[in-house]
Amino acid sequence: MSLSEFDLIDRYFAQLTSTLSAKAVAVDLAIGDDCALLTIPEDQQLAISIDTLNADVHFPADANASLIAQRALAVSVSDLAAMGASPLAFTLALSLPEVNESWLADFSAGLKLATEQYDIALIGGDTTRGPLSITVQVQGIVPKGYAIQRGGAQVGDVIYVTGSLGDAAAALEGMQGRLKLSKTAERYFNVRFYQPRARIEVGESLHDLASAAIDVSDGLAADLHHILRASGVAAELHCAELPISNALSQACSPERALNFALTGGDDYELCFTAAPDKRDQIAELAEFLEVPIHEVGRIVMGEGLLCLDANGNALELSQAGYQHFSE
Ligand code: ADP
Ligand code: MG
Repeated sequence: MSLSEFDLIDRYFAQLTSTLSAKAVAVDLAIGDDCALLTIPEDQQLAISIDTLNADVHFPADANASLIAQRALAVSVSDLAAMGASPLAFTLALSLPEVNESWLADFSAGLKLATEQYDIALIGGDTTRGPLSITVQVQGIVPKGYAIQRGGAQVGDVIYVTGSLGDAAAALEGMQGRLKLSKTAERYFNVRFYQPRARIEVGESLHDLASAAIDVSDGLAADLHHILRASGVAAELHCAELPISNALSQACSPERALNFALTGGDDYELCFTAAPDKRDQIAELAEFLEVPIHEVGRIVMGEGLLCLDANGNALELSQAGYQHFSE
């Protein structure tokens, strides 16, 4: 690697290591050597996940670099949330078409904001030349045996969703000119797309409450399917109960909003299941964390997902999953 690339790392990435809090004392060595070194507390497990965002597939290539960075970290951290893990550290593999200092300064500033928000330290990475692509691998810790997996849902469990669904899909439709949005609405949806809030505090609080969990990255229908398959159960989804933001109800018809909520990806809310006797504790948790947690259905015997309208009639899903930006 050339000297200028070392300078680049020094200038734009090395300082992001210093976001180390007391919780992250497990980081013994960060950027600068061949490897980073971590010491994992004996009663914890290391949770690892990786995600790649490619320009013009997962975000427009000319998008603001600070926002791209915030989104890249949030998307990966969201997987930690879905396991009930706490963020510890991450590595960053960056492919850049050119060394553009103002782009890098914006990217670094956005990444710093997100590292502080999630209390996570950048401990290493790789920088190469190529089409713009950002890969973030996160490491989190979770008390041994307490990670929330996809396979634990039981017949009779209640299905919950945090926050609201469909906003990020509306943002994408707006960017692609398929949904006409007012300036105010566009600003709201773009925040939801570029600055999703990974639900770390919710995940960390669900160790003893949730039977299964997943983050909503491909759309609720598709992601809930993963829980159902892994758990060998079926679900009834009460579509009238799906959380839809005021902005989304105002931006399009109820049918389209429901379709975004069911099949739109990129919201990074949590979907989890829990036994009915945990209902009060979950309501208390929502109040304590000031995060809306909605009951949207229940786990039943069998296979697959049945979507019911307010009258209990079955709905047809028009789209099984969600299409990415250029597809
Ligand atoms: P090596 O040749 O051993 O792979 P590199 O020259 O790629 O090392 O990187 C030098 C140091 O800088 C390493 O500690 C690596 O983790 C870190 N690094 C490289 N690129 C990045 C990046 N984009 N973000 C954070 N750290 C980086
Ligand atoms: Mg390298």
